Amino acid sequence: MRLLLVEDDLMVGEAVRKGLRLDGFAVDWVQDGKTAEAAVAQEDYELLLLDLGLPKKNGLEVLKSLRAHGCRIPVLVLTARDAISDRVAGLDAGADDYLIKPFDLEELAARIRALLRRQSGRADPIIEVGHVTLNPATHEVRLQGSEVSLSAREFALLRAFLDRPGAVLSRAQLEEKLYGWDDSIESNAVEVYIHALRKKLGSDFIKNVRGVGYMVNNPVNKAASK
Ligand code: CA
Repeated sequence: MRLLLVEDDLMVGEAVRKGLRLDGFAVDWVQDGKTAEAAVAQEDYELLLLDLGLPKKNGLEVLKSLRAHGCRIPVLVLTARDAISDRVAGLDAGADDYLIKPFDLEELAARIRALLRRQSGRADPIIEVGHVTLNPATHEVRLQGSEVSLSAREFALLRAFLDRPGAVLSRAQLEEKLYGWDDSIESNAVEVYIHALRKKLGSDFIKNVRGVGYMVNNPVNKAASK
């Protein structure tokens, strides 16, 4: 899950980025409205965390312009302003939810999960593919009911596969799920994590698709095609 955080307050930005990374999200952080627009145009983010009072272009203007250009990314507004009119304006401009500062990081993570769930059309918070289940809230992964312990990056990679079972994901797409801009990327990182996941979830759980990437079978499609 790759998110863009737009926040000019350094202390809030650091805390949010650190907290969400511990929760398994890859977070890119920018500090003004113009840079935010450029980043959204360039990268495929799953969600935008948007402060309203920002240098160069304020959050409300950024949001209005994104929506005017047909961008449907889920937006959670983070605002210190407690005036009801600001919140109403944010929601009317196309925000999906908002939090008033100071907020609790656990609540922020829970609201992010709820927005992503809504976005993917899933009401059930537990993701189940074949014999594997993943709980985005608790980070619990189970194989045939038994708990499997994963590192944060193994979890992020598995999440990417389980969000789109049956889809082939390229190495570049998988790398993007794992890293923020300021992380260094080891060239074989994706292979290393996939190797670890296969060891824990079964050697044939993640398939190689030669020359294209990797996939996890969608058991629903498999059954239907028989
Ligand atoms: Ca601000």
